[in-house]
Amino acid sequence: MTAQLIDGNAISRKMRTELAQKTAAFAIRHGREPGLAVILVGDSAASALYVQKKKDACAAAGIRSTIIRLPADCPAHRLLDQIAVLNSDDAVDGILVQLPLPLHLDPAIILEAVDAEKDVDGFHPCNVGRLALREPALRPCTPAGVMTLLEASGIPVLGREAVVVGASNIVGRPMALELLLAGATVTVCHRFTRDLPSHVRRAEILVAAAGNPGLIRGEWIAQGAAVIDVGINRLPDGRLSGDVEFTAAAERAGWITPVPGGVGPMTVTTLLQNTLTAATRREERRHRG
Ligand code: NAD
Repeated sequence: MTAQLIDGNAISRKMRTELAQKTAAFAIRHGREPGLAVILVGDSAASALYVQKKKDACAAAGIRSTIIRLPADCPAHRLLDQIAVLNSDDAVDGILVQLPLPLHLDPAIILEAVDAEKDVDGFHPCNVGRLALREPALRPCTPAGVMTLLEASGIPVLGREAVVVGASNIVGRPMALELLLAGATVTVCHRFTRDLPSHVRRAEILVAAAGNPGLIRGEWIAQGAAVIDVGINRLPDGRLSGDVEFTAAAERAGWITPVPGGVGPMTVTTLLQNTLTAATRREERRHRG
């Protein structure tokens, strides 16, 4: 392997230690900890695991968190009522609705119901719109985490050719906006893109977020490129894999993220940062009256 490994766990640990100091200062100043409420609908084992990880990370960072569990057949109005309660609860700074939701619930309607100032996932149309207009407020966690990884690894973005594979609302699209904001020339590929390899070959920064194991072949990677693999795919043998053929790509890339241990931990770290940011802004507003 010739690429430098981007160790998301190590970068996350350092950032979470700094964050814990900031939340401690917040608690002394305001007489309370920042608060996060997580809504988990249904009984998906994977979602339950993600939510537990977020709760543990909150505890370590000095953020008070509560998990609200609702049944899989929960009607939309009940979930919306729960969100309304949290929107007006002064002790709650951040609200996160764990995705994916059961099919009868429309995520667009549910996510828009969250107060944009408490939307620590950064999925509310106001927060995505602000990012598009170059005035980011609460940034979508995974793309913001990728930008932190690039910065922490000293990878220049300004003027670079960046290619994002995947165009979902929660990863690919906001990822493209983040890279554009940082001055990259951005190409977004998706399931209708013709000749994916020709785009990937041009990438100085490649972000793979298609949810398709091994989609990106090692031989497509440009020499020295930064390869950020957002994909998390469960293989039939139970192992986790990204979207990139890791071993072959690492022979050509300049930097590469592992899966697991690359982007995943940064997503949770950004969630913690967003919660502290939301709490600080709420306190500032309260003091301004
Ligand atoms: P999604 O299914 O909503 O979107 C996938 C995108 O990839 C779509 O835009 C689709 O057009 C594109 N795509 C699919 N097949 C393609 C192909 N053959 N060629 C080009 N484009 C293709 O998925 P998502 O929610 O954006 O998640 C993507 C991946 O990232 C998944 O593996 C998911 O588990 C992972 N993920 C990781 C984190 C993290 O923290 N590391 C967070 C969110 C999602």
